[in-house]
Amino acid sequence: MAAESQFRTKSGGTVLFGRRLLTCPVCGWVHYAMTPEEKEAGDRLPERYQFTAAERLMYESSFRQCLRCESPAADFRIAGERDLARAHGHLVTPVYVEPEAGMN
Ligand SMILES: [Zn+2]
Repeated sequence: MAAESQFRTKSGGTVLFGRRLLTCPVCGWVHYAMTPEEKEAGDRLPERYQFTAAERLMYESSFRQCLRCESPAADFRIAGERDLARAHGHLVTPVYVEPEAGMN
């Protein structure tokens, strides 16, 4: 796994580099793909905080859809330079996708 570092876009914004960045095709929101390790760590939170079944469902679905418009993460595509430029000014939020998703 490449070390995480800052990547400066042409527009002067910085985004995480060494991460798979995915764009929501509907609203253009940029997310970064969680690593399996992060997903695993995240999966332990509901237990630690003793989430109810409803809270757990909401928590888990939040990693599988667009933060902004709730499009399924499976539809995301790899973020391009234009997407990254747009990502400047908003938080790049984590999403969990299957390893092969977003590659087409
Ligand atoms: Zn969206």
